[in-house]
Amino acid sequence: MFPGPLGASLAGRALAAGIWELEARDIRDSATDRHRSVDDTPAGGGPGMVLRADILAAAIDAAAPAPGRPRLLMSPRGRPLTQLRVAGLAAGPGPLIVCGRFEGVDQRVIEARGLEEVSIGDYVLSGGEIAAMALLDACVRLLPGVMGRLESGADESFSAGLLEYPQYTRPQLFEGRPIPEVLLSGDHARVAAWRRAEAEALTRERRPDLWAEHGHRAGGQKAPKDTTGR
Ligand code: SAM
Repeated sequence: MFPGPLGASLAGRALAAGIWELEARDIRDSATDRHRSVDDTPAGGGPGMVLRADILAAAIDAAAPAPGRPRLLMSPRGRPLTQLRVAGLAAGPGPLIVCGRFEGVDQRVIEARGLEEVSIGDYVLSGGEIAAMALLDACVRLLPGVMGRLESGADESFSAGLLEYPQYTRPQLFEGRPIPEVLLSGDHARVAAWRRAEAEALTRERRPDLWAEHGHRAGGQKAPKDTTGR
């Protein structure tokens, strides 16, 4: 599956330019039987299959992740991925990412190899690969030299705890809808104030959770719990 969409566009050009690297490994290469099996039935019964601890541990060990490299397991029961965590990962040495399949992964390998479970949302995918690609795409675009202008990431959704304001471009009139006058005024202070107000209104309406956290931050009180990029 890899690099898949990560081989195209912004991430793909950065990959070709050597700004980031990807080493995809097949867990089946660590299987020991001639069918290259990696899974077995769940202990205690139930539907589906579970990725075996011994095979997955061997695959992780074969990848020989350098000490200090985050070890992630894509998992719907993991801690939800945030832009703060993405920024922390992008600034680090690059993660080892385990992509689950079937019903999941034997708990003992999660513990024995110190895997940190990360979720990309409250829904269930059929495998961890697409989740890993989403995480990697979000990280890669933050690497120096990947985005065109240095500041293009600074204004985006979540960067200041707010969703992004609405964007417009030509034509000036689309199906009877004009670009808001203030954006054509050339008055940078008015434009900035309008964008701020729009971002605040959108965040309040769509993401009361973020808005509550933002108010907490803007109030200059205790910083939000997650300030480490973890
Ligand atoms: N039985 C598991 C559960 O209920 O939590 C779901 C397993 S899912 C079918 C198979 C794999 O897809 C998982 O092991 C995980 O790697 C990946 N996956 C599914 N949804 C995900 C999500 N929201 N975030 C991250 N990874 C996910």
